[in-house]
Amino acid sequence: METGKCNGGTTAEKLPEIKFTKLFFNGEFHDAVSGKTFETIDPRDGKVIGRVAEGDKEDVDLAVKAARHAFDHGPWPRFSGSERGRLMHKFADLIEENADELAALDAVEAGKSFEFAKRGEIPTVLSCFRYYAGAADKIHGEVVKMTKPSMFGYTLKEPVGVVGLIVPWNFPSVLFAAKVAPALAAGCTMVVKPAEQTPLSALFYAYLAKQAGIPDGVLNVVTGFGPKAGAAVASHMDIDKISFTGSTEVGRTIMQASATSNLKLVSLELGGKSPILIFNDADVEKAAELALVGNFLNKGEICAASSRVLVQEGVYDKLVKRLVEKAKGWTVGDPFDPTARQGPQADKKQFEKILSYIEHGKREGATLLTGGRAVGDKGYFIEPTIFANVTEDMKIYQDEIFGPVMSLMKFKTVEEGIKMANNTKYGLAAVIVSPNIDLVNMVSRSIRAGLIWVNCNLELDVSCPFGGYKMSGFGLDNGLDALDGYLHVKSVVTPLHNSPWL
Ligand code: NAD
Repeated sequence: METGKCNGGTTAEKLPEIKFTKLFFNGEFHDAVSGKTFETIDPRDGKVIGRVAEGDKEDVDLAVKAARHAFDHGPWPRFSGSERGRLMHKFADLIEENADELAALDAVEAGKSFEFAKRGEIPTVLSCFRYYAGAADKIHGEVVKMTKPSMFGYTLKEPVGVVGLIVPWNFPSVLFAAKVAPALAAGCTMVVKPAEQTPLSALFYAYLAKQAGIPDGVLNVVTGFGPKAGAAVASHMDIDKISFTGSTEVGRTIMQASATSNLKLVSLELGGKSPILIFNDADVEKAAELALVGNFLNKGEICAASSRVLVQEGVYDKLVKRLVEKAKGWTVGDPFDPTARQGPQADKKQFEKILSYIEHGKREGATLLTGGRAVGDKGYFIEPTIFANVTEDMKIYQDEIFGPVMSLMKFKTVEEGIKMANNTKYGLAAVIVSPNIDLVNMVSRSIRAGLIWVNCNLELDVSCPFGGYKMSGFGLDNGLDALDGYLHVKSVVTPLHNSPWL
């Protein structure tokens, strides 16, 4: 199917059954104290899929009480690491058994490709739970070599306590796992606040955790809106740490809430405006594919999207030609259609925001090479869009658009390319395309970003820490570094009597 045509609306029959719509705490589903619910919407047509409990401050309080009780008195933090790991493996097995349903919930709420959710995202969720299940019995401190030989010191690693996990809508399952799995392995108990656009899979995961035997009160989920339920989590006096993924703007609010409440620990995974640098010696075909995927996969709703495409002048014309040809063949359509590479944007607000950025780009004088319009007359579909002649002062160059909009720029020297790449308030990721290892090594070290992909793009792996520089935040998801984020280090010091060294 060509860009500009939309095959949405053919799959009402593929709606997954919606089983869980209430808040989950203390091992049970509950209505909100207020009795209120909110609509969750199908972005293929803007229609209501279901109604979900609208949690607020009182509900967050109840969920935190459950998590606090489970932490202070329950078995989870007291289990051996191998017992926690065993239950996490069981949880992963149940997720695997329910992969289709979980992928369908994310596809229908977020508008993401069902095939990609099923074959890419749920396997990522599984490897995340299994990785941290394997790490749960390898948490230990170390013996410290003290300056005074008459003293003995060692460190203990202890769970930080009750954690608040606030996640966005673009990867509901992957980001749920990226936070919940290391927190569980560490022995923390938690309250998860999924995004209001995508609450359903988090409730399903909570149900599966209970089936796996994870004790009541360990994993609690409060659905609701950011400024109410999210803000109540961020400012709660009995939450010891917040791990947040979302926009830089809300990240700032989370830090303020910590500062004015109990100074809880904060870890922030925020926005990005990442560059892809394509050098003169790059394979043009490969570079075009990497740029395309980096901009249009998941409809561009990716924090690490390579939305600034910086191309060295020797390959610029050839690359632009291929990019435009490929973008025209990038199919937009129903996320349940396996031939569609791009579904609808997650919601109306996001759809309108992206279209207004496109208008901005045109007004600012960038050249629209392809795309630029909505697709079809229902739902929130947008054409893959490419702008050329973008300049560094333009809004579309500096702001995170979070949609299928690529900005192309030309550079002459390597130094100029690096300078342009670093000309952003963000620092989440960067892509380098070149076969020259010396150039790659030099550029990798010159770019201020948390993750550098060389001759590949968006290769996220649970073993590899992921986090930002600058206004893309601080703290890490993935890898053993993420596990450390849910652990306190405690030092224990004692005199050594009768030591032969005294
Ligand atoms: P958002 O910041 O609006 O919302 C994220 C979460 O925060 C949601 O659950 C929301 O309900 C909650 N929230 C909103 N206001 C709140 C408040 N005042 N207090 C507490 N919680 C609040 O972000 P979004 O629009 O849902 O997601 C898109 C953003 O997320 C983009 O900027 C994107 O780059 C970023 N993101 C970053 C990463 C990463 O790993 N760095 C990954 C995915 C998305």
